[in-house]
Amino acid sequence: MIAPLNTVTDCRTAAPLHDDGYRWRYIAVWGVGWLLLLAAIAGLVIGIVLSTFAVAFPLMAVCLLVFALMYRDAARLRYRAGSGLLGGLCGERGSFAPRTMDELIAACDTARRSGDRLSVVGSAWSNTLGQRTVRGRRLYMHRAVGRLGNARTWLAGTPLKQIQRELAAEDPSVQLVGVPGSSYVTIGAWIATLGHGNSGPAATHGLVIASAKVYDQATGLSMDMSPLKVMEAFGKGPGLAAQYVVLSVTAEEGIYENITVKRQGAQLVNLTDANWALDKRSVMRAVFIGNTKTLALRWIPHTGTELAESTVLKVWLFVFAALGWGSAMPYYKGKDSTGRLSDEVYLFPDALTPPQLWSQMILNIVNYELYTKDITLDASTLLQISDRLQRIHSEHGGRTELRTLGKYVFFDMAMWANTNAFRDAFAALHELGVNKCAQHPGKYVHTKETAACGGVRLVSVKEL
Ligand SMILES: Cc1cc2nc3c(=O)[nH]c(=O)nc-3n(C[C@H](O)[C@H](O)[C@H](O)COP(=O)(O)OP(=O)(O)OC[C@H]3O[C@@H](n4cnc5c(N)ncnc54)[C@H](O)[C@@H]3O)c2cc1C
Repeated sequence: MIAPLNTVTDCRTAAPLHDDGYRWRYIAVWGVGWLLLLAAIAGLVIGIVLSTFAVAFPLMAVCLLVFALMYRDAARLRYRAGSGLLGGLCGERGSFAPRTMDELIAACDTARRSGDRLSVVGSAWSNTLGQRTVRGRRLYMHRAVGRLGNARTWLAGTPLKQIQRELAAEDPSVQLVGVPGSSYVTIGAWIATLGHGNSGPAATHGLVIASAKVYDQATGLSMDMSPLKVMEAFGKGPGLAAQYVVLSVTAEEGIYENITVKRQGAQLVNLTDANWALDKRSVMRAVFIGNTKTLALRWIPHTGTELAESTVLKVWLFVFAALGWGSAMPYYKGKDSTGRLSDEVYLFPDALTPPQLWSQMILNIVNYELYTKDITLDASTLLQISDRLQRIHSEHGGRTELRTLGKYVFFDMAMWANTNAFRDAFAALHELGVNKCAQHPGKYVHTKETAACGGVRLVSVKEL
């Protein structure tokens, strides 16, 4: 049953926009950062022009030093997690940043003894996408990095890119295909948010393809979880998920030979294009729906001569995939290129710098992702989705990236953060046949009310 909120009155009074001050804090913090940089440059120029080195150079040095401290990896991580200026520079009292398995467990035990529950911070990308501040005592994972023994087991703070690099160096060279396209996502967060990779026949596995060693903050016990247990722990919603800390992850399925693939693209206009996009030979595929055009990408196994990539095409591809501007849609015909799976998995820019994130905050763009099993993706449905969502993006900006995994269809949507935009997007999905969906917890998170106002029931992944 849909919650009784999809009446106009309820939808007007419901407060679906999440706002804990994150966006303005991030803008203010890095606003100070840019001012420091400007002051340093001004100090240098004034010093040279007026020959007042005694005043100008110390000023410049102080500004540069503070800016450099802000730009350290650990400080940038804390700002992404929502820290203020000083918290980012110095760290927060009571937070932990352990390095080893023993230190991780000790940190969890210490917090538990003082009655606290830790909030785990991986690389804090979910905070930037969802404009969400990490609350409470933090357990930072960025130092808990590395492989444990010879098995495919890594400490939970290890970035996926590091793991993919190690797998690519194995003989034979392999890759994990069920992982998010952002390489600085930590393997622990991948598990905790049930993240997924590019779709296609290479991804014939379930949503969870790894087992994990997990600390239960309710009991103080560490346990080994099979993929099924991981789904139980993290698939029932944020309340239960927050109880667990992933300590290490063992990759079991979704490991694919690091073959050479040919990337092809085409505008999606008619049924022939849609059938081309859904070609079963593809190792991976993705469909980007912009404000006036839709681009289908597919990667098929390739042998023989390698084909170089056009830089101009790639730039247009980034612009279209990020912003959905129809005029930026690359003209792909005859411009196929080849590459190893390990490069193609990370085709798009995968780590956002403070200037990029600052612009994202100023523009107030959020990214959220909805999963459903209500749609069977055939060629005509794909065309309908493309047409309906183009209209949404022409009105509210942004784009949708469509992916599939088994019976799941994922709508990865970016747009201006705006109540009407969100409700219209849910209403469009409802028109397309989505009655219930789950959402990616590692991105912007909607309320049940927002979804219900568009006629869609928001449920946990387990309930799909
Ligand atoms: C450019 C970009 C591309 C992306 N592409 C994809 C994609 O293709 N597919 C996809 O599924 N997602 C994608 N994402 C989303 C991404 O997977 C999530 O935002 C992910 O949570 C970020 O990982 P993180 O290490 O930054 O985790 P964080 O943002 O730090 O944490 C996310 C959540 O997981 C929890 N958590 C983190 N580590 C642990 C742990 N060890 N134990 C328990 N809980 C933990 C945190 O408490 C938090 O609730 C993308 C994000 C970006 C920025």
